[in-house]
Formats: sequence, C-alpha cells, structure tokens
Amino acid sequence: MKEKFINVNDYVVKSKLPASDYVINPYVGCPHACKYCYASFMKRFTGHNEEWGKFIDIKICDKAISKKILNGKTVFLSSVTDCYNPFEKKYLVTQNILKQLVDIDCKIIICTKSDLILRDIDILKRFNCCCKY
Ligand code: SF4
Repeated sequence: MKEKFINVNDYVVKSKLPASDYVINPYVGCPHACKYCYASFMKRFTGHNEEWGKFIDIKICDKAISKKILNGKTVFLSSVTDCYNPFEKKYLVTQNILKQLVDIDCKIIICTKSDLILRDIDILKRFNCCCKY
C-alpha cells in the first residue's frame, strides 16, 4: 500500500452532483477496493499507476473551511473515497474537517461502509442535519 501526503488549496469543491452543493474528499484513493467502485477513474486524474485500492493520498490543507460559502448549503463526504476508510483511524483528516463544519449551518451527507464513523458520533450529533448512507 502506497501512502503519501498531498497539499491541497481547499478541501471544499463545488459539486456537480444533484444531491449536494459541495463535496469534500479527504483522501484520494480508497483501500476498500470494491470491485464495483465507480471512483477508480480517479487514477487518471491523479497520476496513479497503482491498482485501485493500493494507494492512498492523505490531503493536507492549511486553509480554513469557509463559513460564508457553506452556510445553508449541502456538503457531501465523500464522492470518490470512503472518508472513513481505515487510514482515517490514523490520520483523522475527516474528523478534523467535521470539527470545522460543525460550526457552520450546513447539511452534511456522509457515505461510508465503515463503522469507524461511530468514533465521531459526538461531533455528528451536533449538526442540525446529518444523513449517513
Ligand atoms: S468504499 Fe466506495 S469509494 Fe471505496 S472502493 Fe468501495 S465504492 Fe469505491
């Protein structure tokens, strides 16, 4: 498994998905490596030659998440990774993002297949609107 840190300008990206205004993918790649995964196309855009599921990029961003942009909006975590993949246990990128989002009046949608989400239940309870798929 190849791990590396990458710097990004912003965690938040405008979404083209109908269910959300913005999307946050804390990682590039996903070690769950589901055979049916539609997100493996990300290899093409991120310069990875490894097999899908054999690499993970851990995003680092110094910029604070903008309250102004996300107020009243819907934010989806995550569209091309599982934000609670096993590396989240070690790197806490998703947890640190949630700690910023919780002070913003936004709706969050979390898509994960991992029970690790339960670790953050106390943070998730503080959101006015939080859905898990
Ligand atoms: S958990 Fe989701 S993002 Fe990860 S490999 Fe499976 S389908 Fe893809």
